[in-house]
Amino acid sequence: MTVNSPSLALPTPGALFHIIRREDGVTRADLGRLTGLSRASVSQRVDRLIDSGLVREASDQPSGGGRPPSSLVFAGDVGVVLAADLGATHARLAVVDLAGNLLAELAEDLDIADGPQILDVVEKQFSELLDRAGRRPDEVHGIGVGVPGPVEFETGRPVNPPLMPGWDGYSIPDRLSRGFDVPILVDNDVNIMAVGEYFTNWATKRDLLFVKVGTGVGCGIITEGQIYRGAQGAAGDIGHIRVAAETETVCKCGNVNCLEAIAGGAAIARAARERGCEVANSRDVVELARAHDPDVVQLVRDGGRVLGGVLASLVNAFNPDLIVIGGDMAEAHEQLFAGVREIVYQRATPLATRDLEITPSPLGDRAGRAGAAVMAIQHVLQPGRIDEQWVAPRRKPTAPRKRAAAGSQT
Ligand SMILES: [Zn+2]
Repeated sequence: MTVNSPSLALPTPGALFHIIRREDGVTRADLGRLTGLSRASVSQRVDRLIDSGLVREASDQPSGGGRPPSSLVFAGDVGVVLAADLGATHARLAVVDLAGNLLAELAEDLDIADGPQILDVVEKQFSELLDRAGRRPDEVHGIGVGVPGPVEFETGRPVNPPLMPGWDGYSIPDRLSRGFDVPILVDNDVNIMAVGEYFTNWATKRDLLFVKVGTGVGCGIITEGQIYRGAQGAAGDIGHIRVAAETETVCKCGNVNCLEAIAGGAAIARAARERGCEVANSRDVVELARAHDPDVVQLVRDGGRVLGGVLASLVNAFNPDLIVIGGDMAEAHEQLFAGVREIVYQRATPLATRDLEITPSPLGDRAGRAGAAVMAIQHVLQPGRIDEQWVAPRRKPTAPRKRAAAGSQT
């Protein structure tokens, strides 16, 4: 029930806001034409949006020769969101305004295996970043967090995350809301990387698979411009799809011959060590591949073929426009992509691959931070939240105080 909307059937201020955000520079007359609302109704809604600070009238109209119709623009600097991309050993934090502009960021070593107490550090760094960006805590409207493990998206709780001892069932939103009483959304790192890539570089496409090949392997699925999480938030966990192999390799999940146990960065590093190479992890593998070490080049290319086999099945099932590959191993893209492309174009159907692009992630290790911010901004600026939190009558226009259930779509 939308008690704050005076007329359920008519476009609300939130709906008009989305037109203004999409088509920067529209006039009130344009909004009337686009929505069918009367001039008075448009003005009443636009005035409320202007009062809220979300919209302002553009002042760059030519003057003289009569009063020009003033155009309306989204005032994306009216507030900020905080973004945290927490990796296994590394964190990237940022302050981003509601238009998506990066205001301040930092990256530092942070061991996720130390448990939820690292959120104390995150909270402190958020405050420092806000200072650096010259913004106040009450200008924060939402927080997006990515973590390296499975997350129940509705509650923001990690579920049996193998790299995150001590985090199983821990409510990240409850902890962070002590410092910032705003909506806090948590998702796994691969999903936020997919969101970051999509909205930064590929928003003109519809369907995208983002594949992260690091120590393990995971996939974020964007369909019709939205992240697809599945019934429990577990969609895209392709690292544990079984692949054909000559020998049996036990995966950390307990099954044998999972994709990541054969073709993940850790698996390739192990295979390289068996061939006498001095490598500790996937980063070392990338360095040797780039230096054209023949053994490592062969292993990475073979890994690409195994990954390509799984991706060919996904291409047949989802028919994406684009596959973007990120994670450490994607930095050895010459070799990895040769294997992936060979198998995908060979095995997936001609119609599904006719216009398919396969490309390395342009954002690289910034994809997660970008996606965490986008996730928070999308939530904060939903039309329903704008109607209830930003332009509700007699409420202070800035800093909605109520923490909504994460993921609720209005
Ligand atoms: Zn497995």
